[in-house]
Amino acid sequence: MRPAIVVLNAGSSSVKFLLFAEQDGALEPVVRGQVEGIRTAPHFIARDGAGKVRAEKTWSEGEKLDHDGAVRHITDFLGELRGELALRAVGHRVVHGGIDYVQPVRLDAAVLTALEKYVPLAPLHQPHNLNPIRLLLEHRPQLVQVACFDTAFHATNPEVSRRFAIPAELHEAGVRRYGFHGLSYEFIAAVLGKYDAQAAAGRTIVLHLGNGSSMCAIEAGRSIASTMGFTALDGLPMGTRCGAIDPGVLLYLMDQRGMDARAIEKLLYSQSGLLGVSGISSDMRKLLESDDARARLAVDVYTYRIRREMGSLAAALGGVDAIVFTAGIGENSAEIRARICRDAAWLGVRLDDAANASGGPRISAPDSRVAVWVIPTNEELMIARHTQRLATA
Ligand code: ADP
Repeated sequence: MRPAIVVLNAGSSSVKFLLFAEQDGALEPVVRGQVEGIRTAPHFIARDGAGKVRAEKTWSEGEKLDHDGAVRHITDFLGELRGELALRAVGHRVVHGGIDYVQPVRLDAAVLTALEKYVPLAPLHQPHNLNPIRLLLEHRPQLVQVACFDTAFHATNPEVSRRFAIPAELHEAGVRRYGFHGLSYEFIAAVLGKYDAQAAAGRTIVLHLGNGSSMCAIEAGRSIASTMGFTALDGLPMGTRCGAIDPGVLLYLMDQRGMDARAIEKLLYSQSGLLGVSGISSDMRKLLESDDARARLAVDVYTYRIRREMGSLAAALGGVDAIVFTAGIGENSAEIRARICRDAAWLGVRLDDAANASGGPRISAPDSRVAVWVIPTNEELMIARHTQRLATA
């Protein structure tokens, strides 16, 4: 029986898990799965490393399942694997660590209470992230649980980068730039040296381009600035999120459209970004396949904002040695990478078209002043490593 660590990522409509077996300290992903459509049409599926379905369940219409039920179903399933694997710790993805949690942390009731304080900072994500922690503390108190935060990697940002130009009292109360996607950036920073030792010791801009998109400036492995701020709304336009917007627009929506906080939240989180501009889809693949002018405009707005932020992060770093593409769009779309690299020609970026078409990992031409890489991210492995370390400590 091998010891195992499970990583849980609990969102608003799904709970995802990835089970790692430990072998001489190494972590091997063995089963992954999820319960999705929790409040609508719940469906559970678990697959082994080869993609073969290990278990599946569909709840019939009218049969209720809540988030606790979804987590219970997953832990029951993991219990059934007891013959092969002994679960010794759970690692949770938690979006917000606030001011205090700048490292992964072992969980107990007191830490959970502290993390609940950050619900107002991430009301759409934090409560879902914390739910399974509470449930497992109650029902499996002996199980080691660890929280890993999307904000933590950016704790190294200098004060000038974190500060909004608003009165100090609000800054002290936590109204500041945090940055997100930190587990993805931390993973890239951890593996970059294997690809490019010079970049790992130097200045890199990482583009995490997925449904949620952001960019991070990393200097010698440490985050010094990123495009996301107080919330994961800021920075680049995303699948359905607006990205940076003049705060005056919010005042206008309240005064002239009579919109309240919930209506604005829905507009900015769920109806904007690629979906809002195109009116067609939030999915980059669909927009790239479409010849509708609105789809083209949505992609143009997306890449234009990236072009602008590239300049901003390059300025924060004082120059760039390498650019890294990661996440769904960054890892898979040669077309978007080519556009972004063309826009960054002023930085000395020259693309190797053939290498880009085949997915890299190095996609810059030999005469490029900036090395360009495609590196798949692995947030779950990052969480599993932290969990393993804290469970063993
Ligand atoms: P999440 O942020 O939900 O983890 P992903 O990182 O999986 O999302 O990214 C999803 C995005 O990646 C979608 O917009 C999808 O269209 C895009 N994507 C995936 N494959 C391709 C591809 N081959 N070409 C363009 N976009 C792609």
